[in-house]
Amino acid sequence: MNIHEYQAKAVLKEYGAPVAEGVAIFSADEAEAAAKSLPGPLWVVKSQIHAGGRGKGKFKELSADAKGGVRLAFSLDEVTSNAKEMLGNTLVTKQTGAAGKVVNRLYIEDGADIERELYLSILVDRTVGRPAFVVSTEGGMDIEAVAEETPEKIVTLPIDPETGVTEADAAKLCDALELTGAAREDGMKLFPILHTAFVEKDMSLLEVNPLIVMKDGRLRVLDAKVSFDGNALFRHPDIMELRDVTEEDDKEIEASKYDLAYVALDGDIGCMVNGAGLAMATMDIIKLYGAEPANFLDVGGGASKEKVTAAFKIITSDPNVKGILVNIFGGIMRCDVIAEGVVAAVKEVGLQVPLVVRLEGTNVELGKKIINESGLNVIAADDLDDAAQKIVKAVKG
Ligand code: GDP
Ligand code: MG
Repeated sequence: MNIHEYQAKAVLKEYGAPVAEGVAIFSADEAEAAAKSLPGPLWVVKSQIHAGGRGKGKFKELSADAKGGVRLAFSLDEVTSNAKEMLGNTLVTKQTGAAGKVVNRLYIEDGADIERELYLSILVDRTVGRPAFVVSTEGGMDIEAVAEETPEKIVTLPIDPETGVTEADAAKLCDALELTGAAREDGMKLFPILHTAFVEKDMSLLEVNPLIVMKDGRLRVLDAKVSFDGNALFRHPDIMELRDVTEEDDKEIEASKYDLAYVALDGDIGCMVNGAGLAMATMDIIKLYGAEPANFLDVGGGASKEKVTAAFKIITSDPNVKGILVNIFGGIMRCDVIAEGVVAAVKEVGLQVPLVVRLEGTNVELGKKIINESGLNVIAADDLDDAAQKIVKAVKG
């Protein structure tokens, strides 16, 4: 689960990280009071959406030379005029996709005088099975380009969970970020704080880009992007309250109600599969034959007819779906249950696109019979390879 920047900063502040004062607002009427409560003379008006790259983003409704989703303001009037221009409009960034995201909240922040912009993140490094810091002196807006063009400028430091961030670890991070004086003192304190927050709150990603050295020599967390491990959220009711469903995909919200593992993607072939591994393989083979999956969907091991029906409806509700591939290897999952779910869903919502069904395993004959006798216009397939070729052909011609 993702949260907004201002929420992430509030979480980090609780742990003692240096963040600026700021106020979140939902309407432009609140802008002036929010700005007045901060010292000035520099304010930053920041779009709150669950995506990065806001600074370089563009608003769909504004002219191409209008400013992006993070703006500096030098007076109360500028804070208000920027808030008016941004709220309710759609911000498109490298991370939002072409559709962009509507800005419903702004964060008005006390502006900083920046000397240097650094990059810092903590993530779970699966190769070593530990949380790891990833840091670079080249922070700011284009860390992806740094990773591609000058990967040697990115330093990774795994942390031993037994010890947490040791003095030696913190010193290594300070060295990598070339911190001296007051900034170094701040860094020695900040790195253990961030690591503790990451572990205690079950984060899967904590990204501070940029971490800044200010003109006065101190460090500040200028941007914060935090994701939490969904499987651990039950331990954090305070974090769960920060969920903003308006940022989430409607189909994914619907899927979560039925406990379906569903992720919306950009392609045009809807997939209904049982088992995460088979779902991944199905997506791979669709790509192999030259098409793109519209979703990842694992209906799970012992799904009921109702769950299968819900899953099928979610797939058909996606206007991008030009064909559907049902690929079931029945083990615990029975093929007849899948068949009944598909037939029930089609009866309810109709079927406007080609449907390829590949069933194998427990009760396969019964499953095929249910589909054959349903009168549905289904393209039957013998195996995964055959199924993938048939759906790609049906969609692409
Ligand atoms: P992102 O574009 O979504 O990553 O948003 P950020 O919060 O990282 O802001 C983008 C850029 O705006 C930063 O890299 C800074 O260059 C600039 N910026 C943000 N806050 C301040 C501030 O307080 N003072 C100044 N001078 N620049 C800022
Ligand atoms: Mg940033």
